[in-house]
Amino acid sequence: MKEVEYGLIIIGAGPAGLTAAVYAGRGGLNTLVLERMSAGGHAAVTDAIENYPGFPEGISGAELAESMEKQAKKFGASFKTIMQVTELEHAGGFFKIRAGDETFTAKSVIVATGADPTKLGVPREDELTGRGVSYCAVCDGAFFKGAEVAVVGGGNSAVEEAIYLTRYAKKVYVIHRRDRFRADKILTDRMFSHPAIEAITENIVEEIIGENSVSAVRLKNVRTKEAGTLKIEGIFVYAGYHPNTEFLKGIVELDKSGCVVTDAEMATGVPGLFAAGDVRAKGLRQVITAAGDGATAAYWAGKHIEKIEDRQYGEFK
Ligand code: NAP
Repeated sequence: MKEVEYGLIIIGAGPAGLTAAVYAGRGGLNTLVLERMSAGGHAAVTDAIENYPGFPEGISGAELAESMEKQAKKFGASFKTIMQVTELEHAGGFFKIRAGDETFTAKSVIVATGADPTKLGVPREDELTGRGVSYCAVCDGAFFKGAEVAVVGGGNSAVEEAIYLTRYAKKVYVIHRRDRFRADKILTDRMFSHPAIEAITENIVEEIIGENSVSAVRLKNVRTKEAGTLKIEGIFVYAGYHPNTEFLKGIVELDKSGCVVTDAEMATGVPGLFAAGDVRAKGLRQVITAAGDGATAAYWAGKHIEKIEDRQYGEFK
């Protein structure tokens, strides 16, 4: 085998990637984490994580991510900021990763690239992004002090972030396409009892209105087909996420939503290639499940490396 730079490369520094880095570093693997933005992924922009064990008062996503990164570095993992992984190649028993004009090689790879927010795909959404259209309440909520805003979606993110936005906005509308919310009951109860939140169910956003900034949205009732306009200054979209797996097409099995199919060891069909966290096909996407995936993937990546190193040694005997 050619000289390979790293034992393990972890692509992505969200909770899955960071936990994998803690386990791999502590396990003595020569580990590199390739991160596209600052560590923590989407968890880092979550205001309060209330269901990560060990923090009965909750912990901010940024604080948790920072501690995980510190812990990974303490155990020897290296970090490198890249633009984006554009290509992954598996040849001669090792992996070649291309990111822009840089190339990295490793004996094993864990893909922990997470998922990006899904857009609504309605007129003026792109033009008004950053001018009233946002995908991150924690990042942009403070710009809407005393304003009326809307959140789109009916999942945990939409409901949690609607509650968060009441710190700044005087009124938060939650626009959801069905009459039942997908979010946990504890959150929907909190939302329905909040005086500053109003749920607009069975409605979809057909258009975002505004020249230089958002001034309203055009809604359509999916049952009655009735159209309406809601005056707001900001719209926060929480319509789910899509996995970052473009560079894996044709290399590993992806499910119909583009998530990587793995077994219980987080292994893909390619020996030495693992996936962990939100990028993986699974039922429950939480910080704790991402962390669990990361630990499992790092353990089995270590086993894979042990196996190929034994084989290398055997060739010289
Ligand atoms: P999600 O659970 O997939 O919910 C997405 C929501 O957006 C759904 O209500 C969906 O409607 C709606 N939606 C999808 N496409 C839409 C469109 N084009 N127009 C309008 N609405 C649309 O996504 P999420 O809330 O971001 O959560 C992702 C994962 O993270 C979930 O597993 C969630 O449990 C987890 N999470 C957990 C916590 C927590 O436990 N504290 C916090 C945040 C996220 P339908 O319901 O009709 O499909």
